[in-house]
Amino acid sequence: GLVYLNGDWIAPEAAKVSVFDRGFLFAEGIYEVVPVYHRRPFLAEHHLARLTRSLEAIGIEAPGQAFWLALVDDLIANNPSIESGLVYFQVTRGAESKRNHLPQGPMTPTIFATFTPMQLHWDTPAPAKVTLCDDIRWLRCDIKSVSLLGNQLLKQEAQRRGAIEPLLHRDGRITEGASSNYFAVKQGEIYTAPADHLILAGITRMWVIELAQRLGLKVNEQPFHVAELGELDELFLTSSSREVQPIGQIDDIIVADGRCGKVTQQLIDAFHASKREHIA
Ligand code: PMP
Repeated sequence: GLVYLNGDWIAPEAAKVSVFDRGFLFAEGIYEVVPVYHRRPFLAEHHLARLTRSLEAIGIEAPGQAFWLALVDDLIANNPSIESGLVYFQVTRGAESKRNHLPQGPMTPTIFATFTPMQLHWDTPAPAKVTLCDDIRWLRCDIKSVSLLGNQLLKQEAQRRGAIEPLLHRDGRITEGASSNYFAVKQGEIYTAPADHLILAGITRMWVIELAQRLGLKVNEQPFHVAELGELDELFLTSSSREVQPIGQIDDIIVADGRCGKVTQQLIDAFHASKREHIA
């Protein structure tokens, strides 16, 4: 398969960028991930709208929706052996001839894109463990930035504690995972963090809210707190790669008897049905 770099289609090993690229020097860039099922991009317009919002938020001038949609199609066409997978886009501000904190003039962004395989799954994932961690990241988590140092440190801490994700909180208010959003179920209603600057508003989050509402479930986009975790009936995470992931344990707290809860199962089924519809 081939990757895309600044207008060229090349072998992955041949893809090289300057050490003066501001993505390398300052982590000044944006990324996006679009799931592709049976060679059809899923919820692509939403992912590309988020890409554009993030690029605008840091003032990188990049091509619009039509360019990105065509690039998704070209990535699929140039990787004929991949049936389902993830399209990855990365845009950095570009490179100059030396390191300056402030760019010295208008810059041409560096655009890099790949399409890598992912197995489509139709099962119910085993309930997993998360661990509570202080959300040490910055205050613009709504920007899908390649500056992922905070997320990476938190992921490693979670791994050390035998958890698949950290469940992050700021002063007791639960924000999200390091690469996922959370949904809590309490007395038949669903709670998920509001889409403000403290979280990356997941496209899967948006889609699961939509599916839940279609099922007649009440979704509250209201902060959920560490202090309420004892009253939880169910908890799950969402992301493009994990889809809907049931959680059976938060540190020493067992959730839903360690099994996949009823509401969670309903939403996994609805998610799979929507995938089936998409590829039909
Ligand atoms: N929050 C963070 C911090 C993430 O990195 C991700 C995945 N990129 C998500 C949430 C989930 O977003 P999505 O559902 O669009 O994959």
